[in-house]
Amino acid sequence: TGRLEGKIAVVTAAGQGIGRAIAETYVAEGATVYASDLDKAKLDGLNAHDVASLDVMSTEAVEAYAKRIGDIDILVNVAGFVHHGTVLDAGEADMDFSWDLNVKSIDRTIRAFLPGMMARAEKGDGSGSIVNLSSVASSIKAAPNRYVYATTKAAVIGLTKAVALDFISKGIRANAICPGTVHSPSWEDRVSELGATMPGGAEAAKAQFVSRQPMGRIGTPEEIAALAVYLGSDESAFSTGMAVTIDGGWSL
Ligand code: NAD
Repeated sequence: TGRLEGKIAVVTAAGQGIGRAIAETYVAEGATVYASDLDKAKLDGLNAHDVASLDVMSTEAVEAYAKRIGDIDILVNVAGFVHHGTVLDAGEADMDFSWDLNVKSIDRTIRAFLPGMMARAEKGDGSGSIVNLSSVASSIKAAPNRYVYATTKAAVIGLTKAVALDFISKGIRANAICPGTVHSPSWEDRVSELGATMPGGAEAAKAQFVSRQPMGRIGTPEEIAALAVYLGSDESAFSTGMAVTIDGGWSL
């Protein structure tokens, strides 16, 4: 505990899954956490400094949120959506939606929070760290039926590197987390949906996800949160522009 003492952190999509685990672990490590989600009810029971409803697809809402919170040290962009299908299953509206939620949301929060992060870093209160959720299904590797998803998550890596380089001399770091399959509520939904299309149902679908993992299991949100603590804290002070794979060996 205490690895994030004195840090002010913003975590989007903190209602469930990876975002929730990150918010909880950040609180446990001593950070002052501003947790938000589109669905505020999902934040019930989360012991954060501040919980709020925030739609990261709204520029206006993100700007107002950043104005209310002020200068921060750590910005964790978690919100994202998994489109299932190939290019022929996806219309332009699907690409637009995922582009907005998975990529432009990060562009919005960084534009809104970065000036305050630089101000705080300059005052010597800390050093800014941006942590973006990408995926190994991105520019790292292809996965079946992840056409829209991989396109947007590859963009997250490019965005992260661009920001990392442009602000490297301002005390700001930016890194991307690239998980393999992680147990979360939306993963359970994907298992049910895939299960409905195959013999053996949800159990067979689960087995299919696990079978591509050389480690023989999928990951936990807490394992991703541990990496987010490292990247958010000064322990990783020499690391910026990284796309960190955390996938149980899936991409080996
Ligand atoms: P999840 O998909 O179960 O939950 C997503 C959360 O995002 C929900 O609480 C939802 O209310 C919120 N949300 C949806 N739209 C929003 C919006 N417009 N504004 C704010 N919040 C919104 O969570 P997860 O599976 O842990 O995924 C979290 C992130 O990690 C995503 O970016 C995902 O792509 C990425 N990721 C997940 C996995 C995985 O296997 N679970 C693997 C690699 C990467």
